[in-house]
Amino acid sequence: MTAKPSQSLPKGFLADALWRIQPSPTIAVTQKARDLKAAGRNVIGLGAGEPDFDTPDNIKDAAIAAIKRGETKYTAVEGIPELRAAIARKFKRENDLDYTPAQTFSAPGGKSIVYTALMATLNPGDEAICVAPYWVSYPDIVLLAGAKPVIVETRIEDGFRLTPHALEAAITPKTKWLIFNQPSNPTGACYAREQLKALTDVLLRHPQVWILTDDMYEHLVYGGFKFHTIAQVEPKLYERTLTMNGVSKAYAMTGWRLGYCGGPEPLIKAMAKLQSQATTSASSITQWAAVEALNGPQDFIPKFQKAFEERRDLVVSMLNQARGIECPTPEGAFYVYPTIRKLIGKSAPSGKTIQSDEDFASELLETEGVAVVHGAAFGLSPFFRISYATSNVVLEEACRRIQRFCGNLR
Ligand code: PLP
Repeated sequence: MTAKPSQSLPKGFLADALWRIQPSPTIAVTQKARDLKAAGRNVIGLGAGEPDFDTPDNIKDAAIAAIKRGETKYTAVEGIPELRAAIARKFKRENDLDYTPAQTFSAPGGKSIVYTALMATLNPGDEAICVAPYWVSYPDIVLLAGAKPVIVETRIEDGFRLTPHALEAAITPKTKWLIFNQPSNPTGACYAREQLKALTDVLLRHPQVWILTDDMYEHLVYGGFKFHTIAQVEPKLYERTLTMNGVSKAYAMTGWRLGYCGGPEPLIKAMAKLQSQATTSASSITQWAAVEALNGPQDFIPKFQKAFEERRDLVVSMLNQARGIECPTPEGAFYVYPTIRKLIGKSAPSGKTIQSDEDFASELLETEGVAVVHGAAFGLSPFFRISYATSNVVLEEACRRIQRFCGNLR
């Protein structure tokens, strides 16, 4: 039988929830850059949010050893005991947080932790606060759950940090979660201990609000910045905080798919119930690799940090030399989030007027072959995001092209 060229689904076949969400715009930009490259265009993709480093050998070896030992069967939903113990030790060692192994949980990726936590708790009518610019998946997962994302915008003048005043104003009796992320994707913004304390003081006044803190980029901080997490800064919030993390960014393990968290045991049990009917667990082999990542030597982390810090400095400096672009220097993650507010209204060589950050990104890709993600995708315009997790040579070339592109706008 030959495949039919185009098939359509019966009307009403797709779930209503699917119409509430968008496909991930960052994955879409990465795919577009890949397609253009495959078609022979000279394209530099700065859209992907993943380290260009390889997974360290000790972690790969642990996975190979696990395969050879036959650790290839189903595991407990929450994770193998060795992983849950390693997660509990990590939280104690690095965050001074006491979670018993029973308070820990693992899933196929940090995204899956966020998905499972929100799906297990949100009902129609509930609100979840998302801080803009946000990681693209938060509001869409809230929408999938049938709840309402309440978007709180930050300002470049405040270093893209949520202010206590804006947080207070966003909270209502229906607020169930504050979804909080630092170092931030897409801005790289980090919060010093006192800045977190000012936010936790607000949260203490609203006992209905739980906090999902996404600490994925914890280890990617620069210039001596000291990372703290919410439940560490305010122990009174421990009972209503889910501390989420993962191995993707810190250990260059994006393809392995493993995220983890620590939180109140009843919430962990609810998440396990949901995951038992979804993915069952993270891959057994990946779990063993993650045990090695968390328990093994951590000495490559400062090396990753140093390389990223140099790249950050290079990109910030070159972007600030591009006409009309202002690029703040973030303290963490591997992204910069420059503004193009001075370029709105200018015309590109194609004759097209740049009316939005989406126009800027698509003209930049067309004319100079540089793929970046427009700010609207993250809920704050007019900006764009560059991921600088690539070599200095590539970054220099990309920034030169951006400088030329901006220089040619009239
Ligand atoms: N949280 C943030 C802020 C991220 O940027 C990402 C990935 O880009 C994730 C979570 C998801 O990570 P994972 O690859 O482990 O699903």
